[in-house]
Amino acid sequence: MTYNITLIPGDGVGPEIAEATVRVLEATGVSFNWDVQNAGGEVYEKEGHPLPDRVVESIKKNKIAIKGPITTPVGSGFRSVNVLLRQTLDLYSCVRPCKGYPGARTRYDDIDIVIVRENTEDLYAGIEYEKGSEGAGAIIELVEKLSDRKIRDDSGISIKPISVFGSDRIVRYAFDYARQNNRKKVTAVHKANIMKFSDGLFLEVAREVAKDYPDIEFEDRIIDNMCMQLVQKPELYDVLVLPNLYGDVVSDLGAGLIGGLGLAPGANIGEGYALFEATHGSAPKYKGMNKANPMAVMLSGVMMLRHLKETDAADRLEGAIAELIKEGKHVTYDMKPAPDDPTAETTSGVADAIISKLN
Ligand code: NAD
Repeated sequence: MTYNITLIPGDGVGPEIAEATVRVLEATGVSFNWDVQNAGGEVYEKEGHPLPDRVVESIKKNKIAIKGPITTPVGSGFRSVNVLLRQTLDLYSCVRPCKGYPGARTRYDDIDIVIVRENTEDLYAGIEYEKGSEGAGAIIELVEKLSDRKIRDDSGISIKPISVFGSDRIVRYAFDYARQNNRKKVTAVHKANIMKFSDGLFLEVAREVAKDYPDIEFEDRIIDNMCMQLVQKPELYDVLVLPNLYGDVVSDLGAGLIGGLGLAPGANIGEGYALFEATHGSAPKYKGMNKANPMAVMLSGVMMLRHLKETDAADRLEGAIAELIKEGKHVTYDMKPAPDDPTAETTSGVADAIISKLN
């Protein structure tokens, strides 16, 4: 059987690591038909939109996509293509395993945490009003009318919506994931003491959902305490479920626990579609240098193989990556003792080494 998969190479280091990933996925013996669709800044210049309909249509047709990172202009310019894709396809669940592989340079042993991040709501929804705009003015006026609070006139405003619907489905996803993957505990992370009506609602819903899963332990943590706990005693945690923004931040913290962003894969899952991508961004300073670590996207490819029920291929590819990490020879600069280590492997060299292990 041949799988039709949408491949979005991305920009920055994206195309290099996407190519390396395609090569190792093909070396597993599974057959793919890649529907290559570009998106991002260059596409915006050529086609007038950073995420043209053809990309979304391709994913709707193929149901599964894998992508390299895409740069988002800071402060102004077009909105994140990555966020837009998740919202357009309602890929509400972002699953980011933080698994420590022996040999990776990290301060911790045996990390095995899975982050389940809500992907469509919260401050990340991108509902914003620029300073001085009609929208910002209207909201400032309304807030003043409805409460005794005054927002300064020269404020920009970002809205933080968190719904019962969105919280229920992401917490359920986390519990279902825990059940299916023999996990013991789900921790809901929030700041409900301060944001009583958004994070408070998330926590209230999480507590209700937990009652339907008596076989899985449930607890909650306030986000700031959670960050400290993850640094001090990560071994206490199993599956974390978080609203969008905390999930984004804690994902990078989780990547730090296992040896860096070059090792942190992810999947964005909805009812109909799944899109696999690393936690990391486009690392523009390394663009075209054949230097970036392709393992995070490769491990996202392993997640894709598991999603396709190609378990044997997934195990073999993950095993080959794990062996490479353990040997420490054919790994990129970020996994060497010093970033300027002359023995650092190239992006394509990592793919070559994995392919020879698979063969
Ligand atoms: P980043 O993740 O791109 O890079 C931060 C640093 O981490 C890099 O400078 C590099 O030192 C290291 N790093 C990241 N990936 C690496 C890899 N594969 N191999 C080796 N080292 C790696 O974060 P950033 O610099 O904050 O963001 C750059 C751009 O990426 C921004 O435009 C941002 O919006 C975008 N971004 C995209 C996605 C996505 O496509 N899903 C995710 C995060 C950030």
